[in-house]
Amino acid sequence: MLEITKENIEKAIEKAKATKPKVRVIEFRRYSVTNKTTGANYEVTFTKIGGKKFADCSCPATKICYHIGASIGAHIVLAEQMHTATA
Ligand SMILES: [Zn+2]
Repeated sequence: MLEITKENIEKAIEKAKATKPKVRVIEFRRYSVTNKTTGANYEVTFTKIGGKKFADCSCPATKICYHIGASIGAHIVLAEQMHTATA
């Protein structure tokens, strides 16, 4: 699991904006991210533990990747809609 920080998620979001992958919601906190150019598909999962946010991606990256950057926008919107304290 990778911890999300303000710095690393900002970089990931920038990369996602450049790459523009397709994000599909599997369920709350689980997203499917597809690279439109290569067709590569990965699954991103978000977790919150003790006030810290973590993310996992099924791609080979060992840091917060652009798949996570692409998913977090959708995740924030969903979390706000659900009004869950644990989002
Ligand atoms: Zn990834």
